[in-house]
Amino acid sequence: MQFNDLGLDQRLIKKLHHLAFDKPTEIQKAAIPVGLLGKDILASSKTGSGKTLAFLLPAMQRMYRSKPFTRRDPRVLVLTPTRELAKQVFAQLRTLNAGTPYDGALIVGGENFNDQVKALRKDPMFVIATPGRLADHLEHRSTYLDGLEMLILDEADRMLDLGFEAQLRRIHEAANHRRRQTMMFSATLDHTDVVNIASDMLNAPKRISIGHSAEEHTDITQRFFLCDHLDHKQALLDKILETENYNQMIIFTATRADTDRLTNELNERRLKAVALSGDMNQTQRNAIMSQFERDCHKILVTTDVASRGLDIEKVSHVINFDMPKHAEEYVHRIGRTGRAGNKGDAISLVGPKDWKSFKNVEAFLQQSISFTTIEGLEGKFKGLKPAPKKKFTKKKPTSAKPVAKKTQAKPQAKKKMDKRFYDNMAVGDNVFIPKKKKPASPSAED
Ligand code: ADP
Ligand code: MG
Repeated sequence: MQFNDLGLDQRLIKKLHHLAFDKPTEIQKAAIPVGLLGKDILASSKTGSGKTLAFLLPAMQRMYRSKPFTRRDPRVLVLTPTRELAKQVFAQLRTLNAGTPYDGALIVGGENFNDQVKALRKDPMFVIATPGRLADHLEHRSTYLDGLEMLILDEADRMLDLGFEAQLRRIHEAANHRRRQTMMFSATLDHTDVVNIASDMLNAPKRISIGHSAEEHTDITQRFFLCDHLDHKQALLDKILETENYNQMIIFTATRADTDRLTNELNERRLKAVALSGDMNQTQRNAIMSQFERDCHKILVTTDVASRGLDIEKVSHVINFDMPKHAEEYVHRIGRTGRAGNKGDAISLVGPKDWKSFKNVEAFLQQSISFTTIEGLEGKFKGLKPAPKKKFTKKKPTSAKPVAKKTQAKPQAKKKMDKRFYDNMAVGDNVFIPKKKKPASPSAED
């Protein structure tokens, strides 16, 4: 099947040909004809499978073929969870739209608000935005969505995870008319929150699912290593950096502090690493991403701020220095490699602190994962046994002195829990028990 068979306008076919896109991917074959019919879509397909074109092409065809509802309002709005992803979608749109009057505006947080007001005043047909900033512009009345023809939510589940439900609903309300077409795309859409918001925002959507998110991504080789403690993780990472033949690498850590610490260590050894975190200002973030895309840095150390959508051709390796808190984020993180049919490697380091997340990932992937070892770097940690189930005991009728009893029971219960924690760790005596650090707040976007 060719792009020609999907009902696309010849002008678009020509552009695709120029850009050397010869054949549509599976998701493009399935979604483009439905999108062209003006139907709502709820689509999932694996990372790197070409979802961006699957929604941009029907959106562009609409510009080519139909008249706007109003002259002023944006006709197509694409929402993404991160600024970096919005920029990337915007760049792809610009390439496709070159030489046409169908202009677009990029409306993301961290950039100058008034410049965006000016850009919106020029009545762009496409707006690519993060939900927080766009909702601010609605509040400020710098844009209206009454004439919106297409609302596209890329990585909808992540926008909900980041707490943007209110903004999404606000945007939906501002563009709530019968003729609006709405599409949601992600690699993971089985979230109950997504189902809820989808039922409110989509109108009799066509559900397109190319493979299941739990299905193995055969272009990505996944390996898992057990680690005793931080130093062990560091030693394994050193070995990986020494022995793997990588082009560019993304290393994911749990917190922003870990990101900085690890980047410094790598740079001390002249490994050309750079940190990207959500609390940097937007100029810094833009500079880092564009340098990384130009291959000025070999290693990007980051948190889940970079787990979604980013498409960087030379990323051959993804390392989970720490396992992600949400299991579906694992699928997205490793999906930064093995894109568009290329091969990639994903390596995860699993220590005692990661065990729970690891088991969640294993359950999410619906497969039993085995571990790899490196000679001389085998650890002692073999995983935690599941906590024994509590015996059900009938509640005794309230005693005469409930308060006194409570205070007595408390320290006992605590002691018992600690003991179980050590008992269940099949480890040696010198295991590193990290002090509980206060985790950094999740990298909320706008
Ligand atoms: P997803 O959103 O599914 O993760 P993207 O839309 O970011 O994937 O696309 C991944 C990569 O595949 C991009 O580099 C894109 O240019 C490329 N790509 C998209 N469609 C095609 C196609 N039909 N043929 C070849 N490459 C494609
Ligand atoms: Mg994408």
